[in-house]
Amino acid sequence: QKPQPSDVAIAHSFTPKTIGRLAREVGLFSEEVEPYGTTRAKVRLEALNRLKTQPNGKYLVVTGITPTPLGEGTTTTTLGLAQALGAHLHVNSFACVRQPSRGSNFGVKGGAVGGGYCQVIPMEEVSLHLTSDIQAVMAASSLVVDTINARVLCESTQSDKALFDWLVPLRDGHRKFSLSQLNRLKRLGIEKPETLKPEEIYRFIRLDIDPETKTGISGVLATLMRDAVKPSLMQTMEGTPVFVHTCPLSDIAQGNSSILADQIALKLVGPEGFVVTEAEGGAELGMEKFFDIKCRSSGLHPDVVVMVASVPALKMHGGGPAVTAGSAMPKEYSAENLTLLENGCNHLKRQLENARAFGLPVVVAINTFSTDTDAELGLVCEQAKLAGALEAVPCSHWAEGGAGAVALGQAVQRAAETPHQMNFLYDLEMPIDDKIRVIAKSMYGADDVELLPQAQKKVALFSKQGLGNLPICMAKTHLSLSHDPERKGVPTGFTLPIRDIHANLGAGFLYPLVGTTSVPPQSPAFSCFHDNDFSTESK
Ligand code: ADP
Ligand code: MG
Repeated sequence: QKPQPSDVAIAHSFTPKTIGRLAREVGLFSEEVEPYGTTRAKVRLEALNRLKTQPNGKYLVVTGITPTPLGEGTTTTTLGLAQALGAHLHVNSFACVRQPSRGSNFGVKGGAVGGGYCQVIPMEEVSLHLTSDIQAVMAASSLVVDTINARVLCESTQSDKALFDWLVPLRDGHRKFSLSQLNRLKRLGIEKPETLKPEEIYRFIRLDIDPETKTGISGVLATLMRDAVKPSLMQTMEGTPVFVHTCPLSDIAQGNSSILADQIALKLVGPEGFVVTEAEGGAELGMEKFFDIKCRSSGLHPDVVVMVASVPALKMHGGGPAVTAGSAMPKEYSAENLTLLENGCNHLKRQLENARAFGLPVVVAINTFSTDTDAELGLVCEQAKLAGALEAVPCSHWAEGGAGAVALGQAVQRAAETPHQMNFLYDLEMPIDDKIRVIAKSMYGADDVELLPQAQKKVALFSKQGLGNLPICMAKTHLSLSHDPERKGVPTGFTLPIRDIHANLGAGFLYPLVGTTSVPPQSPAFSCFHDNDFSTESK
């Protein structure tokens, strides 16, 4: 058998249709579309408003078992399923995926948005730069961080002096006040900056952080994000539409594409159509957050969970050798081994229980590798059904495109007709530590959680601040159900350590740091953004 060409070579062998044509095909009006070049476009939120009385399409969420460091193929399957539905079963379909981080573009997994014959094209555009959303989010996050840092600086004597040194030349006429500085001074009742007294300079600096918004930067943040808030329309290799929207934030990922993208797509596909959205990482992470954070916030009710599993990853969970980034799959995984595989199916069973906890029908998509044998695929199907999957379907979309996922598409169409009632895992009113405990015990299989002193302090603080009713976004490794990435399969007999808890108030969730999971450091620096409040100066 000839090896499949590289993802790049495959991507380059397809020619995308123009964005204008794609937008017309999905039912967007030209005034709702803002093209970036000829193959990408931002979609204006007016489209959602126009379509608000239309019924929604069916809503499918694709998640997976705990992946190897090379990925499990959830993105590939999300796109493959959308291609199967849209290009082969001839129903309207839309795929919604997150914009890949630079980590996935330049990191271990290779393909950033899909792989093989299921990719978003043009692949360089979607992988490397797209429509500057990441840049806008980065600029906005560093603006927030800078503002807070500036405030902290003000509070120390040392930096009071630094700020004083910065303002005195302004006062003395060696540097000019900008228009926005003058406006702010006016708002403070200071008409003549030249006459500023030292204590007024302090007031100027401190009150710059205006008391109403606490930071005084909502305007400029909104300006920075006004394009990023619109989903980017692109296409798969088979010409079916894709929304690429939202990116990993600087500190914690909730692993899902945006609510706005899903909402617009659900309207555009119409009541007979399907929106396939991806929830990244293992089901205990991205999928749990999909339900408890995203669906709770959007009010949308998905119809089917698609659980991606692969024979090599299941063998890893069954006790096979470690799969490491940067090297090929160990050879144990390319020969039939039903013992390892059957062991590994316990992990699949566990993740199926996780999915079923939310009350929806679950279909297992086995993302087949060229080395899988019929006996192996048969075993996974059998075990998946025993564990409560409605259906389990081997698919070859990576090698064959949408044609390889037609059976999956049909299974999903059947599953979407099954009556069901979605539920959340926890009530928001529960105390913070109980919410964390519910997730740890029911999704990860932990015996209990242990809140380390810093985390206990935060529970007390956040409860006192009235933040106790926010949902929880766990920051845990995606490489194990537990907090230890080395423990594969179904880890038992562990207590989940919670090191600290942070609050992301803009996003509206609390995020506990599990074990040694770390978040990247945030940028320091005192900035002169105060002088560029576009929201007030550019109309
Ligand atoms: P995930 O979304 O689970 O992280 P991706 O869909 O991004 O995974 O796929 C990760 C990588 O694995 C990609 O480079 C893709 O080409 C490759 N891949 C996916 N499915 C298969 C398969 N069936 N056979 C071989 N490689 C695959
Ligand atoms: Mg993915």
